[in-house]
Amino acid sequence: MARNKIQFQKGMSLVEFFQRYGQEGQCRDQFFKWRWPNGFECPLCCCREYCTLKTRELYQCNRCHHQTSLTSGTILEASKLPFTIWFLGMFLMTQTKNGISAMELSRQLGVSYNAAWRLKHKLMQVMKERDDSRPLQGHVQLDDAYWGGEKHGGKRGRGSANKHPF
Ligand SMILES: [Zn+2]
Repeated sequence: MARNKIQFQKGMSLVEFFQRYGQEGQCRDQFFKWRWPNGFECPLCCCREYCTLKTRELYQCNRCHHQTSLTSGTILEASKLPFTIWFLGMFLMTQTKNGISAMELSRQLGVSYNAAWRLKHKLMQVMKERDDSRPLQGHVQLDDAYWGGEKHGGKRGRGSANKHPF
């Protein structure tokens, strides 16, 4: 599966992040490129011709008229959170080596603890399983991130046996 370049490089400043992904439309366009790196493709008949309905909420295939949303089949499906919150969540989760707690995410994103917890765990799942073939997973790449490390004892940092690079 085609891989995109790393989107949230280490060292991208918060200012740069908001310039590139601060608005819903910017995130939506980026998500479209992650999902359909070679342009839209109908999930049913693979037709590439489409039109958009309801202010780009739905994509309708010109051949079989199947309608799909940008998020269907991805971890963002059925989420009430805007793209901007997901993108900021991804950014925050990739900026710290030791991870970010759901409580801190909740505070930074301005969403409920439960919403932050779900977002975090969905993102952690695709980070872990990014080699699977589900839509978002092949397209999100993270640089030098580590998962785990809650256990006490042993080495600290990236050499720790408790941490799993992904
Ligand atoms: Zn179709």
